[in-house]
Amino acid sequence: MLVSVSRTQVSHVYELIFMSRKLEGKVALVTGAASGIGKATAAKFVTHGAKVVIADIQHQLGQETAEELGPDAVFIPCDVTKESDISNAVDFAVSRFNQLDIMYNNAGVACGTPPSITDLDLDVFDRVMGINVRGVVAGIKHGARVMIPRRTGSILCTASITGVLGGTAQHTYSISKSTVIGTVRSAAAELCRYGVRVNSISPFAIPTPFVMDEMRQIYRGVEDSRIEKILNDAGVLMGGNCETSDIANAALYLASDDAKYVNGHNLVVDGGFTVMKSLVLPAPDQVH
Ligand code: NAD
Repeated sequence: MLVSVSRTQVSHVYELIFMSRKLEGKVALVTGAASGIGKATAAKFVTHGAKVVIADIQHQLGQETAEELGPDAVFIPCDVTKESDISNAVDFAVSRFNQLDIMYNNAGVACGTPPSITDLDLDVFDRVMGINVRGVVAGIKHGARVMIPRRTGSILCTASITGVLGGTAQHTYSISKSTVIGTVRSAAAELCRYGVRVNSISPFAIPTPFVMDEMRQIYRGVEDSRIEKILNDAGVLMGGNCETSDIANAALYLASDDAKYVNGHNLVVDGGFTVMKSLVLPAPDQVH
């Protein structure tokens, strides 16, 4: 069926679409954006009018992701454990698009370390901290380097509920993520005086590639669909599961002017998991 619409209706729809683009004219750099949360966020940022630099250690996947997201996305190889890679990625964003408004330090890894801290492998600990913490600190450092002179910018970091609540992951990962939350507070306390905001997002479990790799080690031989159900069933909020798009929406909010006075905050996206603990009392007839 052909529907005829007036010029006014077309411009109204155009205006509505245009007005809802929250990152028009902004430039973002997202680490770990070849996949999972980073990719979903990069896609969301592009939809909202941003130019996005996808920085990742996975060259082919990163390139494919950039092509998938269209002409406003571009890939640069970047290993966040190398400060020079992060510095180059920031300089690349500025030389290509003239500025950097949003620096999202999202790249992170898990590690299958033993459950007891008495068995902790400190070499694995150093490796994970090198990506999850040092990589974030370097991202804040170099993002701030180009944002301070412009007296504006939004720096985001992916933490985790495991950094908020002990006992939800093995120690190394949990320690790395609580350190990200502390890093954000420390950096925000300085950068506020330059108009640069620093915030983190703490997602609940989402079956992205690295989480699935971890879970397959635990549930050997179990089908992926069953593993995904186990993860999703651990959530507490009825009516939906935590998805990469939920984190992308949180990132869009924090990156945009909607959050212009939100600074040093850790936005927990967990359906209420970290504030809820069931109180299991014995039935009255079992108490004597
Ligand atoms: P993912 O595996 O889909 O994505 C992680 C990305 O980081 C990959 O593209 C990977 O190539 C990249 N990466 C890894 N090491 C890197 C390095 N040294 N330099 C540059 N890039 C590197 O997983 P995801 O779930 O999207 O993870 C993104 C972030 O979210 C991580 O920081 C993770 O800790 C955090 N997180 C994930 C969950 C979850 O359940 N999925 C929950 C809380 C926090």
